[in-house]
Amino acid sequence: MAAHHGEAKPLAGGQSLVPMLAFRVATPSLIVDLRKLDELRQIKIAAGGVALGAMVRWRDILDDARLRIAHPLLVAAVEHVAHYQIRNRGTVGGSLAHADPAAELPGIAVTCEARIAVLGKSGARVIEAADFFRGPLMTALKPDEIITEIRFPAWPQARRFGFEEFARRQGDFALAGVALFYDGDSGGKAANAHVGAIGVADRPVRLPAVERVVNGSTIDAVTIAKAEAAASAAIDPGDDIHAGGAYRKALIGVMVERALKSASA
Ligand SMILES: Cc1cc2nc3c(=O)[nH]c(=O)nc-3n(C[C@H](O)[C@H](O)[C@H](O)COP(=O)(O)OP(=O)(O)OC[C@H]3O[C@@H](n4cnc5c(N)ncnc54)[C@H](O)[C@@H]3O)c2cc1C
Repeated sequence: MAAHHGEAKPLAGGQSLVPMLAFRVATPSLIVDLRKLDELRQIKIAAGGVALGAMVRWRDILDDARLRIAHPLLVAAVEHVAHYQIRNRGTVGGSLAHADPAAELPGIAVTCEARIAVLGKSGARVIEAADFFRGPLMTALKPDEIITEIRFPAWPQARRFGFEEFARRQGDFALAGVALFYDGDSGGKAANAHVGAIGVADRPVRLPAVERVVNGSTIDAVTIAKAEAAASAAIDPGDDIHAGGAYRKALIGVMVERALKSASA
């Protein structure tokens, strides 16, 4: 890849790259198939957290019963990814590298403060998810680098979480989606809230204004109403062919409301 000076592209599941080739959006001079790299296919679960190899497929995540305990928010999000056939081929690394602002895994990565391990000609490095996504289909990857792994911090068993998204049809990219979690403090109030949104900006984003509402509060109707309003106020999406900006602003509030209700139930 390095020898091709930015003109080479790795191929993972092909579920985004092949359509891009078909539409001539991508015209690489070389395609490098990663499928024979078995070491990129591992799911590692340890006390320190969960690591998914870049070639782990959506189906592998849904089939691994350990992940439902080790990272239930991740599994809840992946259940919304695309359709059966695409989940059989699409991969973790392909989704991160493709960086669709409405994709679930980038949203979970940013919300959970995951770290993305990459490898290139000048060696290995690790990039914080918050620094990895630079805009629609844009990342911090250099042309000769591939993603090798994504690492999630450990997930405490008592943690409360919710994942909600709205798409016109099951499996379509979300018009808007929310991933959130919080831990409980000794007085029964929420602490350590992490709230992320997809489909409402040029990349997945955290919603610190919503996190401030949730932290230190009991998750009741009053808190949920405040969080909903804070979410709508925090984003400023434009209009596109799928939805108007005002609609998305309203929708993100509803997603926060539903995710908090589900987390606290
Ligand atoms: C109809 C349809 C609906 C979909 N709906 C959703 C959805 O709801 N949610 C969602 O998240 N996704 C959705 N997808 C996308 C799907 O999840 C893809 O699997 C994913 O975006 C790309 O993964 P892939 O393995 O197929 O990557 P590929 O298509 O093989 O590659 C995508 C890009 O990533 C690069 N790449 C791949 N692997 C690496 C790596 N290890 N390191 C560096 N670069 C790499 C490629 O060069 C290419 O630029 C949908 C796709 C389709 C066709």
